[in-house]
Order: sequence, then C-alpha cells, then structure tokens
Amino acid sequence: TMPLLQVNDLKKHFPIRSGLFGRSKSKVHAVDGVSFEIARGETLSLVGESGCGKSTVGRAILRLFDITAGQIVLDGKRIDDLGPGSLREMRRRVQVVFQDPFSSLNPRMRIRDILAEPINNFGLAKDAAERDARIAELMEIVRLPRDAVNRRPHEFSGGQRQRIGIARALAAKPELIVCDEAVSALDVSVKAQIVNLLQDLQREFGLALLFISHDLAIVEHMTHRVAVMYLGKIVEMAPRQQIFAAPGHPYTKALLSAVPIPEPGAERTPIILKGDVPSPVNPPKGCRFNTRCPLAFDRCRSEAPELRHKGEDQWVACHLENA
Ligand code: SF4
Ligand code: MG
Repeated sequence: TMPLLQVNDLKKHFPIRSGLFGRSKSKVHAVDGVSFEIARGETLSLVGESGCGKSTVGRAILRLFDITAGQIVLDGKRIDDLGPGSLREMRRRVQVVFQDPFSSLNPRMRIRDILAEPINNFGLAKDAAERDARIAELMEIVRLPRDAVNRRPHEFSGGQRQRIGIARALAAKPELIVCDEAVSALDVSVKAQIVNLLQDLQREFGLALLFISHDLAIVEHMTHRVAVMYLGKIVEMAPRQQIFAAPGHPYTKALLSAVPIPEPGAERTPIILKGDVPSPVNPPKGCRFNTRCPLAFDRCRSEAPELRHKGEDQWVACHLENA
C-alpha cells in the first residue's frame, strides 16, 4: 500500500551573508538529502541534537517555506511544488503541534474561537450549531472540561495548553500531525500524559505522527520507528526495538548511551563524544560524523557513507556497517 507521506532526497539550504559588509555568500546546509516514508497510523520519530535539521524537515513538510531540492509526496501527490491556491487541502491534512503552546495560541482569543478558526477556514461545519457541537466534541477528545471554551490560554497550565494545541490540530481532521518538540517544555508527569493522549488519538483516528524530539527517553515509549539525524542527514533508521536494543551507527550508540534505563541496576555505559557539532555551513568532508566519531578511519574523511539496508527494516550510513 502507498505510504501516507514520502520524502525523497529533501534538501534545504539557507543563504546567509557573512564576512565584511556581508559580501561573501555562504549556505547553511540545514537538510542535505533526506528520504523517508510514513505509513497511515504510524509514528516516525526524528531525533538528533539541536541544529541537526529535524525541525527544518518538519517545517518543509508543513510547506512553511520552499525547499531547495527533492520531493514531498502526500498520498501519492507531490505537495512541494503546489502554489498557494492548491495548498489549502494539503494544509488541512497535515497539521502541527509546536513546542510552546503559549506562543502558538493567541492570548486574546477564547478557546472557543481558537478551535472555531480551523473549522471555519476549512469549511468543516455547515452552521454555527454544528460548529459548536464539534468544539464541544474536541474538548472531550482532549479531556478538557467543556465549559473551559470560554477561557483564554493564560488561564490554563502548560499541559492543558498543549491539549488545546492538539485540539486545534485535530479540528482540521488531519491525517498527519507534525509534533515539533511537542512535549519537551512540559514536566515529566505531564509529558507522559500528553504522549498517552497522542497515542490514544492515533489509534482512534488512524493518525500518522512525525514526532520531532531530542528526548530519546520519551521516544522510546511511544514510537514505531526512529530516524536519527546528524548535520542534515539521516544516519540511521530502524524500528523502535531495533534502535534501542541494537543500534548500528556510532552516533546512535552515543545518543542512546545517555538515555537512562528504567530497570534498577541496569546501566548503559556512557559514550562521550569529543567536540561540538560542526557548523552546517561547512560540514566535514566524507562522513559528517568523522570529526567526533570514536571509530573514524581514513576512508571516513574522504568518502561519505550512504544509507544502506542492513537487514529487517534497519538502514545505517557508516562504512563499518557497509564493509
Ligand atoms: Fe564513524 Fe566512519 Fe562510520 Fe562515519 S563512517 S560513523 S566516521 S566509522
Ligand atoms: Mg528544533
């Protein structure tokens, strides 16, 4: 069956001006050849340190800017080259929940009006009565009291505001929700509640989720597959069990070594990476991870490893795996 979303060799380069009087023009290689698919009802988590390009991938899928190269295909139809007039239906089908619910909710609007906006914009209710019934239903779906529709965002806690953000996304009846660090700003116990809610909604509505996060402890509990990004590229992609039990890429191993194991007595040996993530303006030649990889050898500094199929559903971009 056709995947809901296909991303093929996606590139996004941002021009920047630097040097004296901003005369030299360089480019930030934010995303540099990323491919993946998401099935209906599936969660794919996009993980990596800040600046690896994961949010840029999410924003590209949301069509918040034009991409540099590649294709984004929704349900068999390219959406990367749609003009503003044809974007409407795509914007309904792909919704977003951002990290900070407070900054993404208009503080002057009542919850009723925040939820009415997508319903009206996409013509999803035939009259005011149907719209109000839908708003009441959305409040119930995200487990907020119905009479809270008359309140404004500042009257809610962070977790409740994120429920409102989710209700607003659901109001459009989407098939895919991009969750960009959607639970990262919340307290641990609230995080778990929101993740559980997202999982329930996924099962109930057959939603696909692109879950963008730097928090592997959360990802481990809720995802179907994981794609690990480093400096604009996917270095490993595999089902959850595979990634967490037997990661293939040295970078994945290092990231996972910092994730606590819940069982008492069990430990992972931390792998400390040297140095910082290099600049995406001038990414290292060869394997982009070679400046920090504990296993780097000559070939890594000259030749970029391709993302290769390793068996099952696991893909790894490392010369050691592809020998
Ligand atoms: Fe490390 Fe080389 Fe593999 Fe890159 S290709 S991850 S530098 S061993
Ligand atoms: Mg980000």
